[in-house]
Amino acid sequence: RSKAERHGAAVFFSTEMGRDLYSSMQLERLLREAVADKAFEAALQPKVRIADRKVVGFEALARWREADGTIRSPAEFIRAATELGILNAVTFAVTDDALTAFDTLDARFGDETSISLNIAGVQANDPAFMSELVARIAASGRANRMILELTEDAMVQAPQFRALVQPMLGAAGIRVAIDDFGTGYSSLSVLAELDANELKIDRSFVTRIQHNPVNQRILRAIEKLAHAIGLQTVAEGVETQEELAYLQAESSVDIVQGYYFSPPMMVEDLMIWTRPDTSRRIYRIG
Ligand code: C2E
Ligand code: MG
Ligand code: MG
Ligand code: MG
Repeated sequence: RSKAERHGAAVFFSTEMGRDLYSSMQLERLLREAVADKAFEAALQPKVRIADRKVVGFEALARWREADGTIRSPAEFIRAATELGILNAVTFAVTDDALTAFDTLDARFGDETSISLNIAGVQANDPAFMSELVARIAASGRANRMILELTEDAMVQAPQFRALVQPMLGAAGIRVAIDDFGTGYSSLSVLAELDANELKIDRSFVTRIQHNPVNQRILRAIEKLAHAIGLQTVAEGVETQEELAYLQAESSVDIVQGYYFSPPMMVEDLMIWTRPDTSRRIYRIG
């Protein structure tokens, strides 16, 4: 059963069933209200550098906070928001929330951490949207601490992104990460051309990697490729001590991110749970 069902909330938010059971007008009204209320927030998940276990940045993940306090995840609203044409508004709200978090974060983590934002392919290929996003980020004075995460498909199938948007990001000092790497299609020449800074290795290669010789070889190949074209690597979805131990001993992955260290949290909770130096786990449930 979906999370929405378990919590006894409106089932129509779950990804697949919704449209068949409820009118899209109802969903549209709720999402538009949420945009007007700025009810979209950034949950932040720490990125930890393997070498010294320092928190070097945070990924901002969209959350919808409903009027009754229910927190909804992207799987429950990103697709609908995209179809309703309000994804850009969601992204602006998440961006503003993330930029606001810097002041609080810096007091604890110093002023060199980054915040990563997730950008959909259609957005990346829309120069008007992207120039507004860049302007907002630049106005914060922290463009050089921002990273935009795009999937390889989003970048490869985006002629406007490569021709117009990437130079804009470069000029502003905003970095680019390739998200979910290994799950899409990209040619090596395009990857080299993209001028990204970071490659995020998809969780599917990381899960139980210590028991999976095929994924171990794939990881080694991805690392070689990444380092050959000058990208730092992030392993997504590290959940266990065993996965972390494997990555530390047997890989050259630079940064790890995952539930082992911390789930995405609202900034207030990060302040309670997270230390800058994570020589031990930084978050324990219970
Ligand atoms: P993503 O960018 O690959 O983000 C990682 C997802 O994995 C997040 O799910 C995160 O909570 C989850 N995760 C992190 N560590 C672990 C772990 O150790 N184990 C497991 N099983 N999962 C982990 P979330 O927040 O539900 O987001 C899902 C996807 O929704 C994101 O995948 C991203 O593609 C998209 N998304 C999130 N926020 C935004 C946004 O603001 N705009 C757009 N366009 N897409 C977004
Ligand atoms: Mg991401
Ligand atoms: Mg990812
Ligand atoms: Mg992923």
